Amino acid sequence: MMSKGRDILEHYGISACVLDPGYQDPDGRHVGRIQKAVKAELVRAQQGELLTQVKAKIQHGTYPRQLAGDGIDRAASVKWLVDGKVPARVEAMVFEAQDNATRTRAREGRIYITREDQLCRACHEREETVGHILAGCVFHQFRGIKTRHDRALYVLVREILLGLGVPLPATYRYPWGQAEARTFGTGSVTVVVDTVIQTRGRVMENRPDGVVYQHAAKCIEIFEVACAYEPCLLEREIEKRRKYLPLATDLARQFEGYRTKVTPVVMGDLGTVGRLRTHLTESGVFWQDQVDRVVCGIQREVLCGSVDLLTKHLLL
Ligand SMILES: [Zn+2]
Repeated sequence: MMSKGRDILEHYGISACVLDPGYQDPDGRHVGRIQKAVKAELVRAQQGELLTQVKAKIQHGTYPRQLAGDGIDRAASVKWLVDGKVPARVEAMVFEAQDNATRTRAREGRIYITREDQLCRACHEREETVGHILAGCVFHQFRGIKTRHDRALYVLVREILLGLGVPLPATYRYPWGQAEARTFGTGSVTVVVDTVIQTRGRVMENRPDGVVYQHAAKCIEIFEVACAYEPCLLEREIEKRRKYLPLATDLARQFEGYRTKVTPVVMGDLGTVGRLRTHLTESGVFWQDQVDRVVCGIQREVLCGSVDLLTKHLLL
């Protein structure tokens, strides 16, 4: 602070010693007035700095407004909010998580300064942040993270069957049991869910979430569902497509004359949508008006799943 005062004095060509408390005014200059002017200048500088800091700070409740950039579908990302499709409890917790205000250990350590150990209470491996709990914690991998994925997949398969006009089996209910049928449809359309696909060559990734065989249209489509850590959303879409390309190539060799493609169904764990609407529109499985419904349905399951996960984690 003092150095800033001295800078200001230097700027005005005044000796910095006037700021010393014991300074005597030998020439009878109005030191008090100078000191006052310097103080006022300092206050102005401080206010300017503060304003810049406040403007740069991410404000609460502005997460939807911050959603921008190539490949982010802002309208679809806030659809749950606009349509009010989730329960109030979920809405409140999602807001809290988006604002990074969830009472995680990292927050307790940094903001409340009440905790030294900021490691995750479940895996004790990483700093406990919302991002870690929702997407990275190994403890939840086969619990909450899997449940959330399966719920989103359940909605996707239901919509695929509706889109293709395949009757929904009466037993089609979540959660799926191990013994339940994973193959739907007959004749011209077959939908295979979460099953190992027979391949001609050696293919490492041979169990996608869903494969749709449309024999009349000579098209095979692989669907893969993922809930991604929000900042890596678009990378996950690319990664999922790349992961199943060898299987798509193998299927193209098995079914001569068929088109094969991979459709990534990726959504951010706090509801952000990337290129999902485009992917679903291009897929050729859904009718035009159905795409928004599919996105909304998956978004609802993902948000409810993320909130369940967070609630359970915070009670550990
Ligand atoms: Zn953890």
